Amino acid sequence: MKKIFYLSLLIFLILFLIYLTKDHEEISNTIYLEDNIHIEFPSFSNRKINNYLNNLLSQKLSNFKTSNKETFFMDYDYTTSPTNTIALKLYNYALKDNIVKENITSYDINLQDSRITPTQTMSTSYEYDVYLGQEFDPDKPMIALTFDDGPNYNTNKIIDILNNFKVKATFFVLGQNIEGHEEILTKMANNNLEIGNHTYSHKLLTKMSPEKIQEEVNKTNDLITNITSKQPTLLRTSYGSFTKKIRSSVDMPIIIWNIDTLDWKYHSSERIANSILSKVKDGDIILMHDIYNATANALEIAIPKLLEQGYQLVTVSELFYYKNISLEKGQVYSNAK
Ligand code: ZN
Repeated sequence: MKKIFYLSLLIFLILFLIYLTKDHEEISNTIYLEDNIHIEFPSFSNRKINNYLNNLLSQKLSNFKTSNKETFFMDYDYTTSPTNTIALKLYNYALKDNIVKENITSYDINLQDSRITPTQTMSTSYEYDVYLGQEFDPDKPMIALTFDDGPNYNTNKIIDILNNFKVKATFFVLGQNIEGHEEILTKMANNNLEIGNHTYSHKLLTKMSPEKIQEEVNKTNDLITNITSKQPTLLRTSYGSFTKKIRSSVDMPIIIWNIDTLDWKYHSSERIANSILSKVKDGDIILMHDIYNATANALEIAIPKLLEQGYQLVTVSELFYYKNISLEKGQVYSNAK
């Protein structure tokens, strides 16, 4: 009989403890400043604390609002200690012109006497790279190498060369070449190389109906997305064609080029490298094909010289991002100037 009593008491105590800890971990209150600006915060079983937090956060939010054209986020983290105090950390981030200002404020909240003590404030600011976590200097010249018609057995070699020089590039792949080369697309994605769409079959689009053109584009987009989990955002039409019909049929920007290395024609690494080095300027988009050995060898010649001349080799999306040019669907871009 005694045993049962103590056992029930123990169970009761455990349930009571669970009840106690659950009590002040309820989320949440929400403060709205505008429709799209709000923060959720923990709700404590204490009106004084809730009011304090409400005022504090409202004030922080309105401070953000006065600072011009900043995008901001708020977030929090808190831990409850057995001594009935809560350590709360508020994180504020303001993002403007690629710079993040981070502000972390810590508070100790005493649930017994409702006292709130600010314990620490930390402010830092750092650059936020939207695409890569790699830093490029927007004031230094940058160009985009692009590779069409792959993937094939030679593409792997091109990826390794780019990686060795720690440079980026964009591959416009053909849907019909993806099967059997899925791991090459994965490798591109894992190395932050950009994958664009070069249609499914490489047939000339100018004679096709809008529906057929869309099929050529969508099929390839689906294949790329299925393998890499990334939706391609750039289209290079077969032969770089862009009639009015093509432009109105696709809902992606069309990226052509302004330096053609003619690598498919000459198969001479020296000639290919020279065709880049003799013409290259800031903002250029360079056309090559990753399916030829001569192209791979040309990269071994051209990339070190381009780096020596101060060029940053970026993906097409990065090029337009850093040049502050927004890409519109159905529009044609041959360079970023
Ligand atoms: Zn092509």
